[in-house]
Amino acid sequence: MSSGAAEAYISHFDVQRVRADFPLLSTRINQHPLVYFDNAATTQKPLSVIECLRHYYAEDNANIHRGVHTLSQRATSAFERAREIVRQFLGAKEGAEIIFTRGTTEAINLVAQSYARTQLKAGDEILIGEAEHHANIVPWQILGSQIGTILKVVPVNDAGEITPSALAAALTNRTRLCAFGHVSNALGSINPVAEIVRLARSVGAKVLVDGAQAVAHAPVDVQSLDCDFYAFSGHKLFGPTGIGVLYGKRELLEEMPPYQGGGDMIKTVSFSGTEYADLPHKFEAGTPHIAGAIGLGAAIQYLDGLDRRGALRHEDALLAYATEQARGVSGLRIIGTARDKAAVLSFLIDGTHPQDLGVLLDNQGVAIRTGHHCAMPVMQRFGIPGTARASFAFYNTREEIDYFFTALEKARQMLA
Ligand code: PLP
Repeated sequence: MSSGAAEAYISHFDVQRVRADFPLLSTRINQHPLVYFDNAATTQKPLSVIECLRHYYAEDNANIHRGVHTLSQRATSAFERAREIVRQFLGAKEGAEIIFTRGTTEAINLVAQSYARTQLKAGDEILIGEAEHHANIVPWQILGSQIGTILKVVPVNDAGEITPSALAAALTNRTRLCAFGHVSNALGSINPVAEIVRLARSVGAKVLVDGAQAVAHAPVDVQSLDCDFYAFSGHKLFGPTGIGVLYGKRELLEEMPPYQGGGDMIKTVSFSGTEYADLPHKFEAGTPHIAGAIGLGAAIQYLDGLDRRGALRHEDALLAYATEQARGVSGLRIIGTARDKAAVLSFLIDGTHPQDLGVLLDNQGVAIRTGHHCAMPVMQRFGIPGTARASFAFYNTREEIDYFFTALEKARQMLA
């Protein structure tokens, strides 16, 4: 979007009204109003989510699925209602395809250890992108050491983009699985997921999408994407930590063995054998993060109540504005200049270390992230140890971006 068109949206989206829903946004840090630009690490929570968690623990708390008593039934129905909210949010066909996990990391490990470990064999190739988060690298390396699969990496170009031609060049008739981030947390690049699915299908490969950074920024429809698996974390979607989701197509989930064994994932157990529960419970061993799932449902309902289109345009406008400002800062180098980008400004400033910038910004109330962002290989690709990263959400403002650049200039002067 052009910055002119984007700016028009800044004034249409009522950001002040939305900010009032997030109590922590009005706090002060080091005697300055908080400017929270660390949304790619985790998002702040609206009052409705906080209140939902309070309500659950104060009024409904009980273990789920096994109790006949009233509280257990209330907790169970709230938990299963949350699954239905997630199903609608992702556009999945049925609730059986929605598995609650601890987060994106656990969801990807589940696919690696349950699907890939049983369906792939030595010499089969798994394709990932060069800018992946460690959560979408290490599980495949562990799998390789267990069964001999080969991990192949599709390089990004200088802008930090995966191009269809680079992907096509890496695909072979041994490619069995393509596992790509929807949006890069380190660079902000939006990967061409529909194209990835189309190309993967041409060699019969399955597709896992790491949606950790995508769900807060754009609507996702797993049926129209036609991916096989989609993973995300609640805490990056204005919900609680410790809860996440794996979407999987029913036919694949049916074939897959349980990831963990224990209570709640069985129909019958005897010492001669165990019959597993139906989907999705087969993959939800043990007491889950009940409050977390219910809180995630509340976060999605909060988003549903927003002008989502306006919020997304507002975020685009913030990114365009911040990028424009950054280009005017001498010695500042933006890392990640993809044409399609979401809400992340990763950068370096000549003669300064990102960590020093992070500390001096924090002294002025600004929260950014510095370092390798759990994406060390892409840092190596750009020949840098890490970056400073400002990441935005719909509750951020243009005034905060102005303050951020003033604070950055002060920090730079102090480091000179
Ligand atoms: N994938 C991406 C792209 C991420 O940005 C993150 C977290 O930063 C993860 C995976 C891991 O998410 P979690 O730590 O919530 O499991």
